Amino acid sequence: MTHPRTAVQGNLLGGCGMLLAILVTLTNVQSYGLIIVGLAIGTLVGAILAARIQMTQMPQLVALFNGFGGLASTLVAGAELFHMDAGASSDVLLATALSGIIGTVTFWGSIVAFGKLQGISWLDKPLRIPGQQIVNGVLAAVLVGLTLWMVIGGQYWVFIPIILVSTALGYLLVNPIGGADMPVVIALLNSYSGLAAAATGFVIDKPVLIITGSLVGASGVILTQIMCKAMNRSLTNVLFGVMDASSSTMDADEVYATVRSTSADDVAMILDVAQRVVVVPGYGMAVAQAQHAVRDMANLLEAKGITVEYAIHPVAGRMPGHMNVLLAEADVSYDKLIEMDQINPTMGTVDVAIVIGANDVVNPVAKTDPNSPIAGMPIIDVDKARTVIVIKRSLSPGFAGIPNPLFAAENTLMLYADGKKAVLEIAAALKDL
Ligand code: NDP
Repeated sequence: MTHPRTAVQGNLLGGCGMLLAILVTLTNVQSYGLIIVGLAIGTLVGAILAARIQMTQMPQLVALFNGFGGLASTLVAGAELFHMDAGASSDVLLATALSGIIGTVTFWGSIVAFGKLQGISWLDKPLRIPGQQIVNGVLAAVLVGLTLWMVIGGQYWVFIPIILVSTALGYLLVNPIGGADMPVVIALLNSYSGLAAAATGFVIDKPVLIITGSLVGASGVILTQIMCKAMNRSLTNVLFGVMDASSSTMDADEVYATVRSTSADDVAMILDVAQRVVVVPGYGMAVAQAQHAVRDMANLLEAKGITVEYAIHPVAGRMPGHMNVLLAEADVSYDKLIEMDQINPTMGTVDVAIVIGANDVVNPVAKTDPNSPIAGMPIIDVDKARTVIVIKRSLSPGFAGIPNPLFAAENTLMLYADGKKAVLEIAAALKDL
């Protein structure tokens, strides 16, 4: 799973492991009736989702998977309460309460994250509760109290208020997180879903669940750290700093007053005389499925003796490694993908930077406006290239919802078109030169 090329086999292997686990479990059950119904519903929903989902909707799917993982842990732990005798040991009750809390927070947090990624307006809109952090702190303290009541007092019914308070906490924790911080949140929720599963492992006394849950929990934390580093944010800042597009003071009409547009033929002529070209892919390349066309255009340029590289921003697209996966799918040689930290110091020597469907990851506002939702996020310094060509369909904003002054810079030309169509036209024009 550590390399895009082998990740497909890694996934397949993971799927086989899951199948094996289900089959082994099925040899050890008392009644098959409900289990078969559950398997049938789960298989149907899973198969339809997998067949229909677009590559660009993967993060939403991952958010839902995390949420369902949390929900499953809560349900299993809650169901165990029905089997427990009156004097269940306090460690099992503690694990049950923890599973309920972490699982429910994961579920509702993931639903809100799903809504934000999907652009569902009522989930996307940050709530403005005065003293929100205090409210969250009070909810957390109430949960500690309820847990102690359940564990020490042996009151099983307290599990229900625990779930209700955790529901509110899950919603309130993720709701205010906006702007470009969702990658971190998704990684963190992934980690939570593992922790909830591990807690449930203690409830039903299944070491395998404890081990796999801990693995997911630990890998989620590592991914969270990587994403925080990529965004140049601390985890506390992501979780407790409310930032959204409305905190930006920029007016799009003012920012875009001097934008200049170009045509595919003109871009081909500019490229024809370049020596070093850097392609900066973003979410729009994934939407347009332009990766194969981009590779063909790069091949044409290389045949003319022009060096072509790809600048990869760690949070470009909508999931970690999104651009690497797309370009690997198009058989772009891995050594041409240059990480942001490596390519940035050399951007001054680039003749043409072609930005395809990227916006936030090349927005210089991250460096200049401390009120911007992407403040402090490192960007690919395309503005330092001699000429910047930006391919997108309009001047509409990216995920963070803010204008991008790069589009109006002196050395920038906008090519308004769908990413794939534009690249195909440029390639056709290059052939004619
Ligand atoms: P952005 O979301 O900032 O911008 C994408 C741009 O692509 C849009 O401005 C859009 O403009 C353009 N676009 C959409 N469709 C097409 C198309 N068919 N052809 C050409 N262009 C198109 O993307 P970036 O990759 O720059 O930044 C990623 C953002 O997503 C960051 O803010 C990041 O924090 C966030 N994010 C990242 C995650 C991750 O793990 N990587 C997860 C969740 C969020 P137009 O409509 O005008 O065409």
